[in-house]
Amino acid sequence: MPELNLVLLGPPGSGKGTQGERLNEDLRLPYYATGDILRGAVRDETELGKSAKEYMDRGDLVPDEVIVGLIAERIDSEEARDGFILDGFPRTTPQAEALDAKLEEMGRSVGAVLLIDVSDDEVVKRLGGRRTCEANGHVFHVDFNPPKVEGVCDIDGSPLLVRDDDKPDVIRKRLATYHEKTEPLVSYYDDRGVLRRVEGEREPDEVTEELRRTLATMKLESDGAV
Ligand code: AMP
Repeated sequence: MPELNLVLLGPPGSGKGTQGERLNEDLRLPYYATGDILRGAVRDETELGKSAKEYMDRGDLVPDEVIVGLIAERIDSEEARDGFILDGFPRTTPQAEALDAKLEEMGRSVGAVLLIDVSDDEVVKRLGGRRTCEANGHVFHVDFNPPKVEGVCDIDGSPLLVRDDDKPDVIRKRLATYHEKTEPLVSYYDDRGVLRRVEGEREPDEVTEELRRTLATMKLESDGAV
């Protein structure tokens, strides 16, 4: 079977992380989330983290050259031989072009881009109530998925915080950045015939089901059965 190179696309708060982790279990492919990689670097105070933090706190994107190297290294690794799931990358046209170039060098290409569609109003509701555990990044929501004890992570007992970039003015900035820089990728990938759109304003399980169905249909198509 050819390898499966997947990209999850959608605004911040559309559920890419939740769905990416589920696909990661289903498909047994490595899952690379640039936001998680960068937050880890900020926590560990590495050079990468130090240079990325100011952009992230403002809701801006970190420069393309920083992020492209990070991803290229992972895609080219042994664990990604059968494919990968990308979340949060690419986020700009130059990043998408760099990804295409890297894959082409390896005789591969993007197999599918799964767009999780969610409105701006829903993003503001979701991110504004999100609480993230300080130690390991476990995610809760004050209304939709509250922890058993307010302000404490159910899983590891560490404090739950509002991510700096989940503060209201930064959420608005992240959405503006998404529309300006990332949304052009919808037509970029649609033109290449790999875009699949999934309605994201539903229960997470329903979104997962639709993603599974979409991937199954794609597989049938590529096997020549449809
Ligand atoms: P996320 O968790 O995917 O929303 O990412 C959090 C923040 O990390 C973003 O607001 C950006 O500042 C930065 N970031 C993550 N992925 C990228 C990327 N592909 N290009 C540039 N900046 C990124």
